[in-house]
Amino acid sequence: MAAGGGPLVELLAALAPPLEYLAASDFTGAARTRLPLDALAERIARARPVVPAEMRETLAELDTIVADLRAAPPEARRDLLRRAHALLPALRGAARPEWTEYVARASDVEAVLASLGRSVETVPGVGPKRAAELARFGLATVEDLLWHLPFRYEDWRTRTPLSALRPGEDATTIGEVAGVRQGFAGRRGRRLLEVTLRDGAGAAVLVWFNQVQYFAARFRDGQRLLVHGRVEPGLGMGPPRLVHPDVNVLGGTDDLGRLPPIVPVYEKPTTMPVGVMRRIVQGAVAAVADRVPAAIPPEIARRRRLVDPGRALRHVHLPPAEADLAALASASSLAHRSLIFDELFFLQLGLALRRSAAVEEPGTPFPIPGRLPLALRATLPFALTRAQERAVAEIARDLARPHPMRRLLQGDVGSGKTLVALLAGLVVIDAGWQVALMAPTELLAEQHLDTVRPLLAPLGIEAVLLTGGVKGRARKAALAGLAAGRIAFAVGTHALIQEGVEFTRLGLAVVDEQHRFGVLQRAALQRRGAQTGAVDVLVMSATPIPRTLALTLYGDLAVSTLDELPPGRTPITTTLCRESQRARLVDRLRTEVAARHQGYVVYPLVEESEKSELRAATTMVHELAAGPLAGLRLALVHGRMRPDEKDTVMRRFKAGEFDVLVSTTVIEVGIDVPNATVIAIEHAERFGLAQLHQLRGRVGRGRAPGHCFLVTPDWLSQDAYQRLRVLERTTDGFAIAEADLALRGPGDFLGTRQAGLPPFRVANLLRDTALLRAARDEATRWLAQDPALERPESRAVLAVLRHRWAGRLDLAKVG
Ligand code: ADP
Ligand code: MG
Repeated sequence: MAAGGGPLVELLAALAPPLEYLAASDFTGAARTRLPLDALAERIARARPVVPAEMRETLAELDTIVADLRAAPPEARRDLLRRAHALLPALRGAARPEWTEYVARASDVEAVLASLGRSVETVPGVGPKRAAELARFGLATVEDLLWHLPFRYEDWRTRTPLSALRPGEDATTIGEVAGVRQGFAGRRGRRLLEVTLRDGAGAAVLVWFNQVQYFAARFRDGQRLLVHGRVEPGLGMGPPRLVHPDVNVLGGTDDLGRLPPIVPVYEKPTTMPVGVMRRIVQGAVAAVADRVPAAIPPEIARRRRLVDPGRALRHVHLPPAEADLAALASASSLAHRSLIFDELFFLQLGLALRRSAAVEEPGTPFPIPGRLPLALRATLPFALTRAQERAVAEIARDLARPHPMRRLLQGDVGSGKTLVALLAGLVVIDAGWQVALMAPTELLAEQHLDTVRPLLAPLGIEAVLLTGGVKGRARKAALAGLAAGRIAFAVGTHALIQEGVEFTRLGLAVVDEQHRFGVLQRAALQRRGAQTGAVDVLVMSATPIPRTLALTLYGDLAVSTLDELPPGRTPITTTLCRESQRARLVDRLRTEVAARHQGYVVYPLVEESEKSELRAATTMVHELAAGPLAGLRLALVHGRMRPDEKDTVMRRFKAGEFDVLVSTTVIEVGIDVPNATVIAIEHAERFGLAQLHQLRGRVGRGRAPGHCFLVTPDWLSQDAYQRLRVLERTTDGFAIAEADLALRGPGDFLGTRQAGLPPFRVANLLRDTALLRAARDEATRWLAQDPALERPESRAVLAVLRHRWAGRLDLAKVG
């Protein structure tokens, strides 16, 4: 990636490549390398007058090094070159105003994007069979191939003589074929191919166990091969072996020059040879990388030091000899970072547009402060927490605007979200509008109704339940009441958004535990209010989401956070309990039940499979009943039960008909039984921390203190143990979510498909948080200048945006 223009840039162009090359092998080649010292001295001289004052010293030091290099004995060169290499970052910093690595390519964008979307079959060497193989692997289009980045690189720059091969190392070596032999290996007589390789002083044996015929036909005595692979010890006194190495047959002497210095390795369908996969990807890169639109506005590219995608893709797929291998391997090269920024910029732009599209839509302004919210507050035996007050104020501000609210209310279990939502609802009802509260299950909907009804009744407001289970006359009455506007508050499941449910004036939709709902459902709910303009939406979540992820997952929502629990909560004691200490937990369960409390025992699986040692709820409930918990009233719920069966059991548990509920994780979300004081989670090491935290929140909801036992095998690994210790130490859901994310990675956490986001190709939200923030800032800044992306500079931006989001974005208001 040479840059042009400016003496400093020219100096860098001459200096950086050889130094980076040497640095890649820790300057072992320093004694043999000759730098173009005259040219360097001349460029230093030319740069001196133009560099900023603070760079003079650096330049002077470089000048000294170059002078010393002329006279230095070979053994002193390594240190000098190392010092010169250390100056590169400073020089690069000063060369910045000359940034030329981003060549905006914005003409013909639509046509190019269309061609990128063509099948992999259009790539040379890919027939229908290979295309199908690739498609099954998730690589369907040319574009998929371009962004299928190598997951590791082989360094072919340094070649080791055969006599210097060391077992255990990856090596690149050259030799002449001196024998091709097919034979059988081991007692079972696996076929194998052995090719002996020699150079002047040493030998090695190349071994293949697969595709023996195919490889045997490729080699003849006397051929020169360049080979790369892991060196293994020889058999007996024999020469070292390379099993399934990468091989290049060398023709003439100039052939070496045409071989790649650094060779990328790609994830591939299992049936496809490594070399074939590489040829296909690189074929696509060679053919179309240069035409990939460079759509990021040039001023942003300059500010963020980006390389255009064409160059970046070439660099990553076909690294030049001077590339920084460590940076490539860790995806932190300039090229990688540019591709990541590109991806995140269009992500953030889409999210910002989604939000502003909603925010700009006409909606209903609900004035503050209302009479009803004050009336409700007067009936409460406690004051709101500061966090609740803050959230209520934020929501009230949104409600007062003549545009629909799009807000996420997140807070730990028990932080008082429902009350905040209720206060918001009362603002809306006060103005003569209706409120819908949606929960993910019927039981939770009923629970909400139980909470909400006694608070609303004194204010003269009727609340109804509308779920699949509400039928006949009750249903008819509810529907009629909502349609007539007589009923102001509806609580329900997704049945609330089904056909036939009409609100006269739906003003606010509160969606609980939104991650259980698809985005489509969210959208459908918004449309329910189409007859009266867009509905305000408040999403509640008890899954604390680390800030960086909230920015991304809910980038289209504003966020209010309840980071404080109401005072006077009885703390939950969390205990790690090894299998052999189980008696402690049984004692505790029996003590609590004797005190007329209840408990949960949670298992990770439903049925015990033959292979699994996991305790499964279904078999364990019998063992418990016959053994340690004999005499207690036990009930079982699990995920395979029908929803109505599940509901019945849970309801009876809530009513106190059972002492202990044995379950799989179906109890995770929201069930509220204040009388339950113990929870034992079996095989706790199998759960994510955030999930364990949610489960733990099932106890400590009443006045009595809660106890949580995390049961693990005796042989638990140190890592797993440390992970669970996080729960012993803290009850802060956000801290736990951060820890969970750091330990498990974002894969489980995100579910980008569910969140309606484009899939990530190169970005990793854990690793790339700084770039994510930068991309968000730039996207926001750009939209501030051109909110509808209608200026000519935004044409390519808009085209690429549409392409990336492919229908996931309603851009009707844009462009
Ligand atoms: P969340 O939905 O966030 O899990 P809830 O809204 O269910 O929490 O509240 C849990 C309990 O705390 C409820 O019984 C509620 O009445 C009570 N509560 C809410 N806010 C306060 C407060 N500021 N002070 C004391 N108790 C509160
Ligand atoms: Mg709640």
